[in-house]
Amino acid sequence: MTDLAHQIAELSASMFQRRLTHGRTGNLSARVGDGFLITPTGGSLGTVTPGDLALVDLQGRHLDGPRPSKEAFLHAALYRARPDAGAVVHLHSTHAVAVSCHDGLDPDDVLPPLTAYYVMRVGRLPLLPYHAPGDPALGPIAERAARTAHALLLANHGPIAAGASLAAAADTIEELEETARLWLLLRDRPTRPLTPDQVRSLS
Ligand code: ZN
Repeated sequence: MTDLAHQIAELSASMFQRRLTHGRTGNLSARVGDGFLITPTGGSLGTVTPGDLALVDLQGRHLDGPRPSKEAFLHAALYRARPDAGAVVHLHSTHAVAVSCHDGLDPDDVLPPLTAYYVMRVGRLPLLPYHAPGDPALGPIAERAARTAHALLLANHGPIAAGASLAAAADTIEELEETARLWLLLRDRPTRPLTPDQVRSLS
């Protein structure tokens, strides 16, 4: 558990330093027993220490430590939906948030399969409808969507991704952010995503 707490603090600082999140936004968690350790509310990811983490159960109830992020219920929803998930990362990363504000997105799968790494690390990306920050009504919607996708995009808000480990969840959300950036760069140009056969050959 101590190791995990250190890993969360290290990854939080790394995300902040690389400007993948800003201000007091973003939250990271890792599964521990029947619950998870998560970054606290009201702090910057740039300065989180292992002692700042809160322990929360899979229903989103605060068990121990400082007050958890207001978005802990979303992490709980992903852990309930995905028994294989060991970690969850949520960011307000610029390019993914920009995509989440676009009109006319396909809510079943937001981004085309531009590269093999996107297909392998993210796969299908559902768009969840906008809810105000902390609105618990988003919990059941996220839980349902996460049963068939390990990364989700929250409309006008940002991405959230689950992975077997902190490193895997970070890989997914970073690949998502870079692909969102590529998609925005390519928007006005004729673009050739991978074909369905090419996508299938990667699975
Ligand atoms: Zn958020």
